[in-house]
Amino acid sequence: MKSLRTTGKATPSEVRAVNRRLLLQHIGQGRGRISRADLVRLAALNTATVSGLVSELLEQGLIREVGFGPSVGGKPPILLDLDRELFAVLGVQLIRDGFRIAAVSLRGEIIEQHDELCDPDRMIDGIVIAVQKIAGSLERTVLAVGVAVPGIVDHRGLVARSVLLQRTEFDLGGILHERLGYPVHLINDSDACALAEVALSEDPAPTLLALYLGDGVGAGLVLSGALFQGETFGAGEIGHLNLRTHAITCECGRKGCIEAVARISVLTGQPQALQLTPRGERVVGSLDDEAAERAGRNIAALLELVYELIDVRRTVICGPVCALGPGLLEHIRAALDDNDPYLGGRFTVEYSRLGWDGTLIGAAASAVHVELGLLWSLAES
Ligand SMILES: [Zn+2]
Repeated sequence: MKSLRTTGKATPSEVRAVNRRLLLQHIGQGRGRISRADLVRLAALNTATVSGLVSELLEQGLIREVGFGPSVGGKPPILLDLDRELFAVLGVQLIRDGFRIAAVSLRGEIIEQHDELCDPDRMIDGIVIAVQKIAGSLERTVLAVGVAVPGIVDHRGLVARSVLLQRTEFDLGGILHERLGYPVHLINDSDACALAEVALSEDPAPTLLALYLGDGVGAGLVLSGALFQGETFGAGEIGHLNLRTHAITCECGRKGCIEAVARISVLTGQPQALQLTPRGERVVGSLDDEAAERAGRNIAALLELVYELIDVRRTVICGPVCALGPGLLEHIRAALDDNDPYLGGRFTVEYSRLGWDGTLIGAAASAVHVELGLLWSLAES
């Protein structure tokens, strides 16, 4: 989150960079229906500034002229859009037994996606080969690679701690950048989901909790349009939070963790519930109703805590669990209503419209955001 206090004046190059991001944002949201004159009006910038920045963006190939708008007397205006053809950004998600990779257009659409099983010791080699393969098959320039990691990614871009990867202080981004040559940006996997939900939202500054249920459990928190990562980037690391709502032993050895009841292997009763194959078989088994009811009660307790603490009422459940049907959602809603019908009626709990792909799109979105300062608008329009 940005500091509330302004600490210094902007330099001319910072002003130019902010204006450039602002124009890219408007062009992205305009989806091919925006002209230079619209940009002057929407961004409240003068014609010369807009004209100079648009020329620069055209030259770099990030945007292109896509046709003419209706004339309002005089020449019809030329319409602009993000270039969907020239660039791609890659999103990668690491999971327990492998990784998923997608090539995404500058408009946030998945062009190509596949999953790969991989031994943890061979993970870096596996990702390097997969990135080179997918980059080679695209007739586009790869702008950057975004990697969603199950663990804490700190301000240096290091994996500060990942229980699932069993690594601390791990410079995964630096290693991949050195081997691949592309800019590589890391993001926590739940934060990646949260970013994808912001991109999907019609509200420009939404507040929501993205709850990722997969191999592990984590949350990404968005407060008034900003990703809140906490003082040491650990916000949302809730997998091993003990709410005192059950006493089941977790994989970590302790009792009572939220992960012990809401992990996908527990929800399906299948130890190997997530199975990656290049053909895309992913979730094995179906939702076990008893497990879903227990998870629903525990997740409801978590959501009430979040609500009482910071008044977040919208929760989007993300990850492979979205493939298991609405049973879990029904149990969460019923538990919220049972605990307090007044409160229950004030919660929105839904599955991500992007399903598990939200993590990949969010990873790619984070890389685009770092490189261009642009957050996609994926809202249906
Ligand atoms: Zn635990």
